[in-house]
Amino acid sequence: CLVLVPLVVIIHRKPDLSLQNLRWRETSAEDNSDVARNELKSPEELDQLLSRLETPLVIEAAHYGKNEYKAAFNERMELLRKTFAEPITEPKSMHLVRPVDPLAGKASATILCLTRNQDLSDIVTSIQQLEEQFNNQFGYPYTFLNDEEFSDHFKNEITRLLPIDREVQFGRIDPKMWNMPDSIDPEVFKSKMDQLEDVQHAEKISYHNMCRFYSRSFYHHPLLAKYKYIWRIEPNVNFYCRIDYDVFQFMEDNDKIYGFVLNLYDSPESVKSLWKSTMDFVEKTPQYLHRNGSYAWLKDNVQKPQNYEITGGYSTCHFWTNFEIINLDFLRSKPYEDYMHFLEGEKGFYYERWGDAPVRSLALALFADKSRIHWFRDIGYQHFPYTNCPKSPAGSDRCNGNCQPGSFAPWPSLRSENCLPVWIEHIMSQQELESY
Ligand code: GDP
Ligand code: MN
Repeated sequence: CLVLVPLVVIIHRKPDLSLQNLRWRETSAEDNSDVARNELKSPEELDQLLSRLETPLVIEAAHYGKNEYKAAFNERMELLRKTFAEPITEPKSMHLVRPVDPLAGKASATILCLTRNQDLSDIVTSIQQLEEQFNNQFGYPYTFLNDEEFSDHFKNEITRLLPIDREVQFGRIDPKMWNMPDSIDPEVFKSKMDQLEDVQHAEKISYHNMCRFYSRSFYHHPLLAKYKYIWRIEPNVNFYCRIDYDVFQFMEDNDKIYGFVLNLYDSPESVKSLWKSTMDFVEKTPQYLHRNGSYAWLKDNVQKPQNYEITGGYSTCHFWTNFEIINLDFLRSKPYEDYMHFLEGEKGFYYERWGDAPVRSLALALFADKSRIHWFRDIGYQHFPYTNCPKSPAGSDRCNGNCQPGSFAPWPSLRSENCLPVWIEHIMSQQELESY
């Protein structure tokens, strides 16, 4: 039975309107904060935004029984069914950059892969599919990063796989960027991880390093300094559908800062104190909050009420970052950097198992305009066990036979892990709903 009555007490936190926070906007020109395009807000508005962050999406859920939870869930599954029943091809943008366009392949962008030498064969299959479906028409460069030196074998095989004129960079990550910092006590780490036994990968230091790296460091890597956008890919993922327009130019033309395909709930134990830490940060810097943020998505309390309960108010909804297309200016902006600095001090990358996915998602949902976050409905993608596969119009061969429209996971029990219905219902505007 569900013993999960979310707290509906709304405590107003008093925003900190200290000069330091108000000054942020004045300095925004030099420090890149303009990507957040934030307006200075009045104390009343800040109060209102903070109280939204303390209010669950469904207040009446305080009185929900099993049946009401079930009904809410069924409604969401129906919304998903309807959404995926619509045949789509690509964004109905006025202007998509096609392979023949002089701007094709000319965005300041790279495909980014963090891998180990032993992941070679698995990254090769990901790249082969991405090339076939998209990049052989656009020729975007690749950047490979690794905490160790890439072997000659790895480099040779990758180079051999790609056209001869394709730019490929291989980089080593500075141990200072990668390793557990001195502020973390290895003994404390170990004892905390003994208590997190059920959290995937919690016992592996390298996994914590990876999550921290992808949260707060990768965009400082010197090899990425010259780029504005990255498309992150991982070993062993599948791309099912042809993409015949330049997605980076799409991001640019439509003023998007983030593109995702999958949207999930997280293991609440892995981020037990992340929401509380984040709210502590937000109280110190309320001006960073975006008035058009994706708050409702963070506050869902009816699909996984236990997650909301355990984290003290966070749905655990997040973009699944193994696929992500990012405008790095957002990560390099003052709100994001200050948030990372604050989280580092909270030590949850090691004393819990904060993933880069919830961290990135919280930053986007709080500090970015939701209209600048794009669901790439048209990109057929799988990272086991989850899939995004659109339905194509009759007769279209854009997606291959491995893509089963609307399928999400191989087991029905995983359907409740899908947070996309919350995004569709509460975050997407009419315009976005009609953009495919
Ligand atoms: P999962 O998808 O959350 O299960 O995590 P993965 O094992 O797929 O790791 C996420 C990404 O980080 C993948 O691109 C991995 O290749 C990469 N990765 C994970 N751990 C390490 C590591 O210790 N070293 C390097 N170089 N890459 C890593
Ligand atoms: Mn993975």
